[in-house]
Amino acid sequence: MSLIEHWIDGKNHPSASGRTGPVFDPAQGVKQRDVVLADEAEIEAAVAAAKAAFPAWRDTSIAKRSTIMFAFRELLNARKGELAAILTSEHGKVLSDAAGEIARGLEVVEFALSFPHLMKGDFSENVSTGVDVYSLRQPLGVVGIISPFNFPAMVPMWFFPIAIAAGNTVVLKPSEKDPSAANWMAELLTEAGLPDGVFNVLHGDKVAVDGLLEHPDVKSISFVGSTPIAQYIYETAAKNGKRVQALGGAKNHMLVLPDADLDLVADSAVNAGFGSAGERCMAISVVVAVEPVADELIAKITERVAGLKVGDGTRGCDMGPLITKEHRDKVASYLDLAVEDGAELVVDGRGIEVDGEADGFWLGATLIDKVPTTSRVYTDEIFGPVLSVVRVATYEEGVELINSSQYGNGTAIFTNDGGAARRFQNEVEVGMIGINVPIPVPVSYYSFGGWKNSLFGDAKAYGPDAFHFFTRQKAVTARWLDPSHGGINLGFPQNA
Ligand code: NAD
Repeated sequence: MSLIEHWIDGKNHPSASGRTGPVFDPAQGVKQRDVVLADEAEIEAAVAAAKAAFPAWRDTSIAKRSTIMFAFRELLNARKGELAAILTSEHGKVLSDAAGEIARGLEVVEFALSFPHLMKGDFSENVSTGVDVYSLRQPLGVVGIISPFNFPAMVPMWFFPIAIAAGNTVVLKPSEKDPSAANWMAELLTEAGLPDGVFNVLHGDKVAVDGLLEHPDVKSISFVGSTPIAQYIYETAAKNGKRVQALGGAKNHMLVLPDADLDLVADSAVNAGFGSAGERCMAISVVVAVEPVADELIAKITERVAGLKVGDGTRGCDMGPLITKEHRDKVASYLDLAVEDGAELVVDGRGIEVDGEADGFWLGATLIDKVPTTSRVYTDEIFGPVLSVVRVATYEEGVELINSSQYGNGTAIFTNDGGAARRFQNEVEVGMIGINVPIPVPVSYYSFGGWKNSLFGDAKAYGPDAFHFFTRQKAVTARWLDPSHGGINLGFPQNA
């Protein structure tokens, strides 16, 4: 059984904290290794390595930084199968889904390669006689990234390729539940030629997170995780004078209008509701059916769910296990609650037959109809393979429901009415909208992020927002002197 160590200054960094956390294989239900959990000295070592590497990396030419980022892209693309296997063994998602996660991460690496263009400043000639003004974008310094368990490769890749390309140095604190992907990517960056100390992995829990939030040498925090922690990160990082973006949880609704193609809707609801066992921040967890479509749609979803193969992610199944036993039990507890609250359990995912070990953290796809909007089944982010149906009478009632949610990450409308779709994109208070697209994760050159309690801060992940977030601007006003510019004048400078 191996121990996963920190990656600091280009090598494994043994821990002396005496604290570790278990890393499970969720499909086997057994601990497969331990991960070290940082103490104060290790936080200090990671930040110090990143700080020491910053001056030389910031001053490394654009040409050289491009070469390294291109090499990383090539290595990642060539060896993505290794990374997918790590994701499946620690997270549990099926291999094809792990490959999809890496593909979306690679997209951001490719977007980051356009940094020479995206970091260009502006130039205005002769703003005043003989005076030019121009702007520069410069890196921040040491940036902290704190990521969740559900995308151990993609979410770090939302941030670090852009942060590094822009000239920053990084301390990544990945989820302690599936930490190996971070070390694998760190080794690959080193192989691509990234200098030691530019990318560091600090493993840990709240101690490590708080250490980064409070460290004066960490200039920004990029966080993705649950809403209560995102809010805590936002407030604490801001109090410590840092730039911060904190992406939180979600409860994503799919609004189905009566004119929609119900076969397409049923396919989409199943794919977006149960892919990755519902452990996606862009998963659809509520189908809002505008009557009279609910009965027919539920029948179509039920038929599709019956065909889903649940089991070990390496065996060609559709859906894998949940991340831990505790999480599996918590998700399953919502099924009892649904019945207590008067909802109808149409498909019960407990006790299903799986293609995997008996001790795996299994829960099959679950469909619940007539969920009261006062029930915690409706209001909580369950983060598992549980799809609720809420029936409404009109489009207006559906939009009002979506807008009353504390979350505003993603949503989708299914309709063949272009006018209704245009109205929806205008009226709905959500950051990412799908029109007949169930998981509207924007491509890498549009930024990713929700509204309301799904994002604290004003910078989204990747896309144009990222270059704003990971750089700060300077405006330079320049005049090359000639004798005509002499003389004393204490008035406020005016342009002429
Ligand atoms: P989490 O909030 O439990 O953990 C996220 C990170 O915060 C981890 O690195 C963890 O170690 C750390 N952390 C946990 N508790 C902490 C505490 N008390 N103080 C300081 N740090 C702490 O989230 P998770 O369970 O790993 O991930 C699932 C959540 O992430 C879901 O809510 C999901 O919606 C959300 N998520 C959101 C997005 C998005 O883009 N909005 C994307 C992916 C996941």
